[in-house]
Amino acid sequence: MSSCLFCRIVSREIPAEIVHENDHVLAFRDLRPVAPTHVLVIPKRHVAAVREAEDTDVELLGQVMIGARDAARKLGLVAGGYRVVMNNGDDAGQTVFHLHAHVLGGRTLAWPPG
Ligand code: AMP
Ligand code: ZN
Repeated sequence: MSSCLFCRIVSREIPAEIVHENDHVLAFRDLRPVAPTHVLVIPKRHVAAVREAEDTDVELLGQVMIGARDAARKLGLVAGGYRVVMNNGDDAGQTVFHLHAHVLGGRTLAWPPG
């Protein structure tokens, strides 16, 4: 059994509200949403963060972005717009060390972020 929270969501050991899935990625609603729509898109294969990614992970990284696009389409975010964010390490506030893209939408998002 994996000790990684998001690997356990991939293997269905921990439940999540899944909104999109294919062979490469899983997208599910964030437990503590910070926008009206807030989902996480994760690769099914464990990579801790973009900062840990190898050159050979180019396909995985592309699949996460395509997964973000597809989740946003399914959730009706395309017309209004949305943000895709990937936190890396402590200064960025990363708390789960399985790479994930936050897809945020449904309201006007401030810039710069906090
Ligand atoms: P980050 O701070 O970028 O590492 O983002 C981790 C995100 O995972 C946070 O927004 C948490 O609310 C979210 N989260 C933590 N545990 C779960 C879970 N079991 N299901 C869904 N989202 C989760
Ligand atoms: Zn993992």
